[in-house]
Amino acid sequence: MTARVIIQKYGGTSVGTPARIRKVAARIAETVREGERVVVVVSAMGQTTDQLIALAHRVTASPPARELDMLVANGETISAPLLAMCLAALGVPAISLTGLQAGVRTSGHHSKARIRAVETDRLRAELEAGRVCVVAGFQGVTEDLEITTLGRGGSDTTAVALAAALNASVCEIYTDVDAIYSADPRVVKRARRIEHISYEEMLEMAAVGARVLHPRAVEIGQLYSIPIHVRSSFKKRPGTMIVAELPMEERSRVRGVAHETDIAKVTIVGVPDRPGVAATIFEPLGEAAISVDVIVQSVSETRETDITFTIAESDLKQAVPLVRRAAETVGAKDVKASGGLAKLSIVGTGMLGTPGVAGRMFRTLAEGGINIEGISTSEIRITCLVSNAQAEAGVRALHTAFELDSLITRGKR
Ligand code: ADP
Ligand code: ASP
Ligand code: MG
Repeated sequence: MTARVIIQKYGGTSVGTPARIRKVAARIAETVREGERVVVVVSAMGQTTDQLIALAHRVTASPPARELDMLVANGETISAPLLAMCLAALGVPAISLTGLQAGVRTSGHHSKARIRAVETDRLRAELEAGRVCVVAGFQGVTEDLEITTLGRGGSDTTAVALAAALNASVCEIYTDVDAIYSADPRVVKRARRIEHISYEEMLEMAAVGARVLHPRAVEIGQLYSIPIHVRSSFKKRPGTMIVAELPMEERSRVRGVAHETDIAKVTIVGVPDRPGVAATIFEPLGEAAISVDVIVQSVSETRETDITFTIAESDLKQAVPLVRRAAETVGAKDVKASGGLAKLSIVGTGMLGTPGVAGRMFRTLAEGGINIEGISTSEIRITCLVSNAQAEAGVRALHTAFELDSLITRGKR
């Protein structure tokens, strides 16, 4: 293939109504007229995925994971052909493809499958024939042709994986905000636009709740050096570029504040202090594809420790029996679990080697009367566990304390 390909991903709000799908088609048509080869990835229309999940829960309290994937994958299977029809109506040759037809091969972890490979033969043939490919995001297929989904927000990952597989020049993520901001602009009215952000910083932000991008999309982008451009589907103005190296003047201590609600805390009480115990506890969670974070092990003075960690509240039902079984195996005394928590994080490569950042974070939360129930750090991130109810106030306080507030309060973006 000679000409380079560009990938454009349109999120749920951007294709939320028939009129919006027509607008998106017009925008794609413009890009095609500029001579680009385009692969489009679409999300389900508006709240479709939520509605399908709710529908499943109206027929049964615990839908089998495989059947749930069979159901929710349909959101994207609907939006892709609708967009392809609009393109055809505009005289742009286009074809919609499911994840399977587009060659998206995944692991078998239903609702959180990982992309293993993209077989690009079909995509390349369609592009060669001059057609725009409109790929249903979020969905893939295992070796046994079982339908899987990639986790909420996973269409971003489909887009960046296709960009990597097709060696695309850029992956454009069109969404309902016009850039990545220093905090969720819905929560912080004075959030600041970010022109450039490093993969590293964006990965940390996404991993701790900035849902503007799916974390694995950033991971793949970094791995394959795919420039990712996050921008508005309603406005022309360029948004945020995610890149490897930041321009010098854009380095600052803390670049963003992120939050994630609906976190659960699990504590295993009275764990015997000997090698192999932590492995016995965490391995079954890994096998079940349950992500664990903020792991704290208390200091042992009595040859016994407590181990506390967090998971998404939605994983709690699946995790507790696994943890109880492991706790019994290692001879621990008890397992306690509770939900209703949130993670508050500050992120920035500039905080490396800057003393006082942690102290300032904890002092800010203390002054806001916010209790910290756990702490975790990476080199460029500090996360505090707080109650759900105090999360948004905490984000605003931290945003101000780290001098991120923009001088102007923005209206609708
Ligand atoms: P899409 O449907 O296009 O994938 P999402 O709802 O998944 O859109 O992501 C966009 C949303 O992410 C925004 O509406 C915004 O509320 C939220 N968001 C959270 N953190 C940030 C941030 N730091 N910058 C921009 N948006 C953010
Ligand atoms: N439709 C899926 C979701 O709502 C995937 C996506 O939009 O990226 O999570
Ligand atoms: Mg999204």
